[in-house]
Formats: sequence, structure tokens, C-alpha cells
Amino acid sequence: DDCVIQHRPAVLPPNVTPDIFDKFIRQVSDLIGAENVQIVTSKDNLDDGSYQHPTYTHDPHHVLEQDFFLASSIVAPRNVSDVQNILRYANALPIPLWPISIGRNSGYGGGAPRVTGSVVINMGKHLNKILEVNVEGAYCVVEPGVTFTDMHNYLVENNLRDKLWIDVPDLGGGSILGNTLERGVGYTPYGDHWMMHSGMEVVLPSGELLRTGMGALPAPRVPETMGLKPEDQPFNKTAQLFPYGFGPYIDGLFSQSNLGIVTKIGMSLFPNPGGYQSYLITIPRDEDLQQAVDIIRPLRLSMVLQNVPTLRHILLDAAVLGNKTKYSAKSEPLSDEDMDGIAKDLNLGRWNFYGALYGPDPIRAALWSEIKQAFSQIPGAQFFFPEDTPDDSVLRVRDKTLQGIPTYDELKWIDWVPNGAHLFFSPIAKCAGDDAMMQYSITKKRCQEAGLDFLGTFTVGLREMHHIVCIVFDKTSAKEKRKAHWLIRTLIDDCAAHGWGEYRTHLAVMDQIMSTYSWNDNILLKFNEVLKNAIDPNGIIAPGKSGVWPKQYNKQEWKL
Ligand code: ADP
Repeated sequence: DDCVIQHRPAVLPPNVTPDIFDKFIRQVSDLIGAENVQIVTSKDNLDDGSYQHPTYTHDPHHVLEQDFFLASSIVAPRNVSDVQNILRYANALPIPLWPISIGRNSGYGGGAPRVTGSVVINMGKHLNKILEVNVEGAYCVVEPGVTFTDMHNYLVENNLRDKLWIDVPDLGGGSILGNTLERGVGYTPYGDHWMMHSGMEVVLPSGELLRTGMGALPAPRVPETMGLKPEDQPFNKTAQLFPYGFGPYIDGLFSQSNLGIVTKIGMSLFPNPGGYQSYLITIPRDEDLQQAVDIIRPLRLSMVLQNVPTLRHILLDAAVLGNKTKYSAKSEPLSDEDMDGIAKDLNLGRWNFYGALYGPDPIRAALWSEIKQAFSQIPGAQFFFPEDTPDDSVLRVRDKTLQGIPTYDELKWIDWVPNGAHLFFSPIAKCAGDDAMMQYSITKKRCQEAGLDFLGTFTVGLREMHHIVCIVFDKTSAKEKRKAHWLIRTLIDDCAAHGWGEYRTHLAVMDQIMSTYSWNDNILLKFNEVLKNAIDPNGIIAPGKSGVWPKQYNKQEWKL
């Protein structure tokens, strides 16, 4: 019966009536099959899932109420043309959508939508193919559902590891495409994922299909591909070799944005360098951070440090090796004396620098001697290779990560406190001792005020550092959640006052962070709003993503 409402979600999208929602779901179900459509019918007993089994209904690391960011439904298109049709239906009604690839996005909101009631588009379920691995050109083309682990396994299974590596983040379960769109990082010389992508295919809000860069230039027409639909045609053979193409470079519009649904991406693969050695340099005193960062800058700028190395705080390493109760009975933040004791017990420094050398023996030996000499200026700095450390050491994990072998060990620090959940606070810092010290002391002080331990790491890009502060809280405690939320909100403002902004963020603070990028009367946001309204006139794709709201939404009311 057409008049009976079949599909009732626990929450509807804003300004969408039950019958409009029902109509949309019927259309989508007819298109892609009911088995690819899930309605979230209740807010009760929401399951947070786990890293291995992510949920798509809400953020499993909820810092607000568990159902604050809740999907009305989750739909999984089978192919590009399904995505185009779903966008056409959504435009006609309109209905807000929230595209995800794998939906782990741990610490940044998981698969959850910014606007409760949005329809989550699970791009990764069926669009999960490795379309090409080009050995000669050292690149791949992937669909949204291909994880770092999938690509690594492919290289292993096809005996290609001796030729190519994939750069991986701390955890291997995220999608290459989603992580790259979010401008995530890994730790080999190809650690800047956005820099390493080349050529994308995007479904625009209108449902039209676009290829960027050299992908806009058709591959020569040959009989075998002549009749193929655009999405099935091969990319131009330089699309994965030269990212910019001709004219305005628009790839950035689809990153951390809400202007399209990306269906394919090209990624550079790292040629096996013909030799590899990871190392750890322990830096004994807390205040040595200053000197260490000033040593790192010239080495990294000149690429003596070849990869994206990390300077990790002692408690982050301690947390990978055990939860807080293993070290202390305290519930309040650990003191300097406690941390000195932990460092001593673990044979680590108050800061620990993880890097790697790439290339044949003579190249590695030359680089290592430069690096060793530079770091030896720090009194008490010590140098380790994996075999010098215990079997469960963080260096043995980093040894894998820094050569593109995915691991899951870094999940352990989330259990620092019972029922651990986490948020990332990730400001960009100048790669200079003074700046690092100031950013560290401000963030550490606020963590202490919130009653939380400082767990953090500086991830060194070429000229800057992504300072990643891991805010770990007990998600069963409303009080702890309030503290964590207060902490991140306060840190955003503190850092903005010092001229520091975040590179990426959780759903709950996207508006606040966008409001700190306010130079010249918020022209950045205004420009983004003009684009949003022009390209997505019905405001259907990811409203509120990165603080950019379509005109249909009163952003003052939505602001968190
Ligand atoms: P991961 O693969 O790391 O689990 P997600 O799939 O959760 O990451 O994606 C992270 C974010 O990237 C999403 O919240 C969304 O904003 C954006 N995103 C992911 N996939 C797409 C896509 N195919 N098109 C557009 N945006 C996407």
C-alpha cells in the first residue's frame, strides 16, 4: 500500500516529514535492493561496536550523548550509477546525506553524520575494488572501500612488496580514499597522503561525474573501451603521474568538504628503497623537547630525515604497553616524578623519537651518522634499533608502520582509562623548539586542569608538526565526557589566540574551529559557503561538514 509508511527511523532529518523520508527509502530500496538499506529504528541500545566491527549509526567515541550524532539510515550503493541516482532522489526531496568510505575515522566522529537524521552513504561496502596497481609508475587506483591493510595484503599476495609499499597510518583499517580526503598522515617518506594522491573521480551533488587533473583528458579511444560508461573508462595514463592537470586545481574542493562524493582516487606507492632500518632515539628530560625540535628542523627540511618521524610523549608509549593502573593507583594526572619513574622502568625517554632510514647500506650509514651526531648534542640521548628493545616495544610496532606494514597495536592507548574513548586535538605547530615548548606547556596545563593525563605526539611534516593530543576519557562517565569536551573547546580557543589552528577535527567542534580561521572577517568560510550553495543548491551533501553550512540551515542554530 503506497499510503502506509513503511520506513520510520528513530530520528528524521531536519524538515523532512515521515512520508518524504519513506518515499526516499522506497526509491533507494527499489534501486539498490532492501538488503543494502538499513533503517535506524531505535535510539535505545545503540551498540558502539569496536574498531574491528565499526558501527555506522553513531560515533562510538561519543563525547556528547551517545545518540547526539545519529543516522536515520545507512545505504550502500553498488556502483557509481547508484550513487548518481541516490543524489538525484535526494535533490528532489531534499534529503541530507553523509558519505563515508569505511567509517572508522577514529577520534574524529566515526561514521556519524554532523546532522542527526542524515542518510549515511556507505561507499565502502560494495565499492571496494583495487582497480589498478601500476608497478612501473608506482601508483594505484582504488575505490572507497579499499583499506590500507587491503592494499598491503594485495602487495604481499602478488609478490610486489619487493617493488612497492603503501604508506600506512597508525592503524591499518581505514580507507585509503577517506583518510586521504581528510588529509591524514602516515610515516614513510610518502606520509603526506594528500600530497601523494593524483587524480580523483567525483559524483557532484547534481549527480554528474567528474574526473580531476589529467583525468579530465580522455584516454585515447580504442575499440575495447569505446562503449564503456564514463566511470568504467580507463583513466588517462598520466592521471596518476601528474596531479594538477590544466586550469584551476580543484581537487582540494573535495577534501574535508561537502561538495561531492568521491568514487575513485589515485595514490602514489612508495618504491621499495632497497634497504630499511627503523630506530628510536630516547630523549631523557621533558624540557629537552625544545632542543630536539630545533635539531629535527634542519634535518627534516634537508630530507636527511627521510620519512615523517614522530616525537612521542612518554605516556603515549606507556599507554601502548598497558593501561594507567599498570603504572599507578592515581586517578588524577601523573606527576613529573611518576613519569620519570615510568620512563626509567620502560627504558624510554620523556620524549621518544621514532624514525627510519631508507636505501642501500651506504646511504643509510651516511644518514645515520648525520642523525646520530646531531641528536648526540642532547645529553643522555640514547639510540636503539628494534632488536635492542623488548619484544613488545613500541619501536617494534613502529618498525612495521614506517615500512608500510599495517598494525593495530596503537589501539591500546585508548584503554589508558576504563571504558576508554578518545578525541584528537590536532593543532599545527611551527617546527621550532620555542613553539613546540609553548604548545606543549599550554596543552599539558589544560589537560591537568581537566584532570586528564597528557598523551601526545609531534608528527613531523616537512616544515611543520602535526601536534596530536590524544584526549582519552571514560565514555560511561558523563562527568569525564564533560571534561573532555571542555578541554578540547578550551584548547581550540587557547591555540587560536596563539595563532595555531587544527588540521582536522571531530564533528562536535567543526564549527568552533572554522570560526577560528577568521582572517579578514571570515572570508574563508564565506567563500566556502558561496561554493557550497552554488555547487549543492539543495544542501544535500554533508551539511555542516568542516563548519560549512548550506543556506537552508540557520548556522547560528546549528552551531555547537
Ligand atoms: P576511514 O576510512 O578512515 O574509516 P571514513 O570512511 O569515516 O574514514 O571517512 C572519513 C571522512 O571522509 C568522512 O566522514 C567523510 O567526511 C569523508 N569521506 C569519506 N569517504 C568519502 C567519499 N567517498 N566521498 C566524500 N567524502 C568522503
